[in-house]
Amino acid sequence: MRLLIKLSGESLSDGTDAVHNQYNERTLETIVAGIKALQEKKHAIALVVGGGNLFRGRELTGKLAIERPTADYIGMLATAQNALVLRDYFKSKGVETRVSSAISMPQICEGYIPKRAERHLAKGRVVIFAAGLGAPYFTTDSTSVQRALEMNMDLLVMAKNGVDGLYTAAPENDASATLIKEISASEVLEKNLKIADQSAIALAKEHNLTIKVIGVADIARALNAEVGSIIQPK
Ligand code: UDP
Repeated sequence: MRLLIKLSGESLSDGTDAVHNQYNERTLETIVAGIKALQEKKHAIALVVGGGNLFRGRELTGKLAIERPTADYIGMLATAQNALVLRDYFKSKGVETRVSSAISMPQICEGYIPKRAERHLAKGRVVIFAAGLGAPYFTTDSTSVQRALEMNMDLLVMAKNGVDGLYTAAPENDASATLIKEISASEVLEKNLKIADQSAIALAKEHNLTIKVIGVADIARALNAEVGSIIQPK
């Protein structure tokens, strides 16, 4: 299968202190082990990485006279930083990757050229998409849907830190929250379930892309039926 895995920036940290502990080796180890396990089963894998462990555009907008587009570009640079960390970490564990960035940075990674990314996938490399869509006012959730569609992926896997799927309510605040095994994109939108950006869910629905929400610890078992929640494109 061809899988696009969305890693939020926070999935690279331990979630306790996103400023001083942006990268947590244990979670990186979990991610790489999970991806290696999927590769061994001959799945083609690309990643979209977020930047939330470092920077989110909306958080700085209006402060220090920073305008929204500038803040968003800084957010995109944060995703590129994460992509470079992943690249070297993966390399140290024997996994070959290529970073493909929506913003040109020829000294440090290649630019996003879909056919080139396709060739990397065909050669068994993990492609890491960096810098989101290269445009302000978007997020890496929308990027993950767009890249999954353009790269003709079979499934978009959203790997989350702290939750292992989609719940009826936030499990940390509500003890009665239960895991939703399967739901339609329309219902996610109607109920405004906070699992990904609404625009990302709507795009997936419109173009018939299935999304699976799992915990980062479950990447190796991402395709198992008992793991996570499925969002059907209907
Ligand atoms: N961003 C953007 N356009 C994109 C992707 C990302 O402007 O196509 C910016 C935006 O400011 C966002 C930040 O990059 O807040 C980091 O991405 P995101 O919040 O999606 O990361 P995540 O929450 O997944 O870690």
